[in-house]
Amino acid sequence: MEDRPRQSKKRKRDKHRKSEKKKENSSQLNVTHQPNQASSALPNPTKSKGSTFLDKMRARLSGGHFRMINEKLYTCSGKDALDYFKEDPALFDVYHTGYQEQMSHWPELPINIIMKWLKDHSPSLVVADFGCGDARLAKNVKNKVFSFDLVSNDPSVIACDMSKTPLDSSVIDVAVFCLSLMGTNYPNYLKEAHRILKPSGWLLIAEVKSRLDPNNGGADPKKFLKAVSELGFTSVLKDYSNKMFVLLYFKKKDKQKSEMKEIEWPELKPCLYKRR
Ligand code: SAH
Repeated sequence: MEDRPRQSKKRKRDKHRKSEKKKENSSQLNVTHQPNQASSALPNPTKSKGSTFLDKMRARLSGGHFRMINEKLYTCSGKDALDYFKEDPALFDVYHTGYQEQMSHWPELPINIIMKWLKDHSPSLVVADFGCGDARLAKNVKNKVFSFDLVSNDPSVIACDMSKTPLDSSVIDVAVFCLSLMGTNYPNYLKEAHRILKPSGWLLIAEVKSRLDPNNGGADPKKFLKAVSELGFTSVLKDYSNKMFVLLYFKKKDKQKSEMKEIEWPELKPCLYKRR
């Protein structure tokens, strides 16, 4: 009788040791397990739940990264933006993945409207796409298109700050800015477009509606139109019909006034995308 409790104590101790050993092994497994090793080696009933969670976390992180880069581009000059991407060109891909995600929620894309406009005009018009992104415009029209962006992931894209393109003066027929008036020095981009456009050449601007909506903290579109006109353009058409963006069509004036007065450009506020 007397032994029994002792024996039982020993058994308990052994049992305890065994279970500790087991815990040790399993915690080692946890540390060394790579998620896909675990999923391939073991039947994992929570696998789909786990990967959905991970996917969500990844999407949230890259969404946050996109919004950070987006804000940076709207609050610095074109030159600083060029240096920013030169230092880490991978950020450009992060930006464009996030940008495409945002665009996938827009009922209509302004670049498609511009594409249609070009298809309704002569294919012989030479185009400059300022801030071309993935160069979708060049890939989808018959026209000769010079595509400019801060980073070139495609041989057809010329990497530059678009306030200084490598083109000669008066060589293009259509200048396109599709959601690309981002830098704090955006007037310099329009001045550059004016320089490379032929007389009577077209200037097409698509911008996020809220940036030109004074009721939403945006600039007064009249002030913007006045400034563009003083730069040397005539406003031909204003299309406010879309919920997300405005489309402005101008033509370069044939003759420039010899005396250039100081143009008052309205500030264009950053377009900050919401967390989805
Ligand atoms: N026009 C494309 C992409 C719009 S996103 C479309 O509609 O799908 C805006 C683009 O403008 C980005 O790719 C950004 O890199 C480019 N951009 C902004 N500032 C620029 C600058 N100073 N020079 C060249 N590209 C610029």
